[in-house]
Amino acid sequence: MSLNFSFSSEHVAVRDTVRRLCQDELAPLVFDAEETETFPKHVFKRWGELGLLGVRYPEADGGSGLDKISDCIVREELSYMSQAFASTWSAHTHLGIWPIWKTGTPLQKERFLKPALAGEKVAGFGLSEPDGGSNVRAMKTRAEKVEGGWRLHGSKLYITNAPFADFLLVAARTRPELAPQSISLFIVELPNAGFEISKLKKEGIRSSETALIHIDGAFVPDDCLLGEAEGTYPVILESLSENRVGVAANAIGMARAAFDAALSFSNDRIVAGKRVGDYQAIAHKLAEMSAQIEAARWLVYYGAWCVDQGTLDAAMAARVKLVASETAVSVSEQAIRILGGAGIMREYPVGRIHRDALVYVIGEGTSEIQKNIIARSLGFKP
Ligand SMILES: Cc1cc2nc3c(=O)[nH]c(=O)nc-3n(C[C@H](O)[C@H](O)[C@H](O)COP(=O)(O)OP(=O)(O)OC[C@H]3O[C@@H](n4cnc5c(N)ncnc54)[C@H](O)[C@@H]3O)c2cc1C
Repeated sequence: MSLNFSFSSEHVAVRDTVRRLCQDELAPLVFDAEETETFPKHVFKRWGELGLLGVRYPEADGGSGLDKISDCIVREELSYMSQAFASTWSAHTHLGIWPIWKTGTPLQKERFLKPALAGEKVAGFGLSEPDGGSNVRAMKTRAEKVEGGWRLHGSKLYITNAPFADFLLVAARTRPELAPQSISLFIVELPNAGFEISKLKKEGIRSSETALIHIDGAFVPDDCLLGEAEGTYPVILESLSENRVGVAANAIGMARAAFDAALSFSNDRIVAGKRVGDYQAIAHKLAEMSAQIEAARWLVYYGAWCVDQGTLDAAMAARVKLVASETAVSVSEQAIRILGGAGIMREYPVGRIHRDALVYVIGEGTSEIQKNIIARSLGFKP
């Protein structure tokens, strides 16, 4: 009987590969990407070459055949460098791909999954709408059957990667008279004459490109319906649960980056003849931040382990996401305070990290929604 808290040598190799890639090739792109609010799309090719887009997918489907723990390690390292880069990666490699891997036909996997894993096509996922962000059941986008396919009408809001994606998974109602959870998923290749995509300006994860989409009679051929019509709600829920563990790993990467910046400042900055870290108030902040990160980090890897064992449930995914995302917000706020005025300056990363962390107490289900899920598992009806 043993309880093993160590990464395997394979996990360490994944971490070192991503760390090197970030330090040598990606980090120099981050500042300009943030300032111009534009993602350098060519990075997808490099991620594909290194097998980083298919970390947790089987080799038979074009993936790297590793596990969810490896996926979380990649996320932690990418987010340590830039959450905008990591969000772009996550919307592609999980949200836009996972349902195809789970329910796609062999032909759909050949056309969409394999090129996406190779970095040749970029994916995104369109679920949220102006009237239905937290409440997916309020979704209004509909798909009407026409000869040879479907025509989509509606709108999608805050869709990551949409400004440059090659395809999006779009959720729609094929029979609005059915129960609210009767949702279908379509693979929509872009550009599509019925899609008007407007890029949004954001405070957080600025170089992750996000859009509002008006859908006006967009034609989607029959072979781009994913899974059963009206039958993909359980797939969407399972995908969101797994991704909550993933974005929790992203949050840990952000928290660690903010902490390291605060630690190094606390060592270097001298105020009234004393290192800032030697003031008890600052030392206690750092101590608390390191404890918060350590606790959240092991919860995240426990969640990843549950995914690998096939035992993750929605409440555990919600706990992991809630704790990790709130940790990133709290730690990055404390980091700004520790840096004083420097914390507000763009040459230091902590302000950016705090803006980025706030996205993650909202995206992938707000903290309030995570608490609702947990409360329901306790027998309450919030
Ligand atoms: C940068 C960014 C990228 C995103 N990318 C994508 C993407 O790629 N694809 C996609 O489909 N979506 C995406 N989203 C959408 C995201 O999932 C939603 O923003 C999120 O689910 C919240 O929905 P909302 O913004 O409509 O907030 P609302 O649902 O309007 O919520 C407003 C407030 O009310 C609270 N609230 C709502 N319902 C309840 C309730 N039942 N109980 C308690 N409180 C409640 C919320 O917690 C929140 O505080 C993205 C969002 C952001 C910010």
